[in-house]
Amino acid sequence: MYDYDLLVVGSANADLVIGVERRPGAGETVLGSDLAVHPGGKGGNQAVAAARLGARTALLARVGDDDYGRLLLDSQRAAGVDTVGVLVGGAPTGVALITVDPSGDNSIVVSPGANGRLAPGDVRAAASLFHASRVVSTQLEIPLETVVEVVRSLAPDSRFVLNPSPPRPLPQEVLAACDPLIVNEHEAKVILGDSLVGGRPEDWARVLLAKGPRSVVVTLGAEGALVASAAQGVVRVPSVKVAAVDTTGAGDAFTAALAWRLGTGESLAEAAAYAARVGAAAVTKAGAQESYPTAAEAEALEAGAL
Ligand code: ADP
Repeated sequence: MYDYDLLVVGSANADLVIGVERRPGAGETVLGSDLAVHPGGKGGNQAVAAARLGARTALLARVGDDDYGRLLLDSQRAAGVDTVGVLVGGAPTGVALITVDPSGDNSIVVSPGANGRLAPGDVRAAASLFHASRVVSTQLEIPLETVVEVVRSLAPDSRFVLNPSPPRPLPQEVLAACDPLIVNEHEAKVILGDSLVGGRPEDWARVLLAKGPRSVVVTLGAEGALVASAAQGVVRVPSVKVAAVDTTGAGDAFTAALAWRLGTGESLAEAAAYAARVGAAAVTKAGAQESYPTAAEAEALEAGAL
């Protein structure tokens, strides 16, 4: 028996957002809207998304001993995430400085702060969390050597899910553990590099699979997703039609939902179909964590009630 359906190992950031008429050029100062502060970071987003759906979720992350760190811990706890694995101190809380212009285009500067100090030793010290978790999910907003240590720390029967964002080439040891590797179009292109052949997502999925992961999911925004494994081949997962308001954090919600449902025994295609409903629900509201649905809201969407 596992205590947790999902352990998320990853980043937690405070997103500091200012609306501007025009994003500033070099040497320029522009005046903007009031500051809005939102809890974010891919790890924090995934943990909140899973907990909101009802998954028993734990987060292994690092925040600073400061006000933003406390804000992030509060938002995780409010969503029902177990924060026993959230380490405090060592550097300021990670921050993303975001300016958004009226067309929705943004410019972002990230200070990883404490996320960059989440070390392999922190993973080893959290061995009991790994043994208690059915599925472990991570991303690349923490050091790659920490992700490698996550792979080495997995319990024998647990499942590893990776969204390589921001994307970079991955060691074979990490690729081979992914079940699945979850990428959007941009991430697929960076991971594949020169071996990208053919313009179709089905081709990317096949070539990605040949690089070693046990399975692959390619997310395609409003077009849905596709899943690929040696046993099942490549299968399209239809998108759910919604009026998109804000796609921020949709990929994190999708990944969290997929990881959780895989742990309940669903097939990759079934779990991805559920995740597509969750991702679609997330784009119908503004923000990232604020937009994540409960299980009832995700099911209502399936029935066309949203
Ligand atoms: P990322 O945020 O990582 O770029 P995507 O934009 O591909 O990821 O979104 C992840 C998933 O969320 C998609 O596979 C899809 O299921 C769902 N989704 C995203 N945008 C929309 C949309 N406009 N309409 C319906 N579903 C969407």
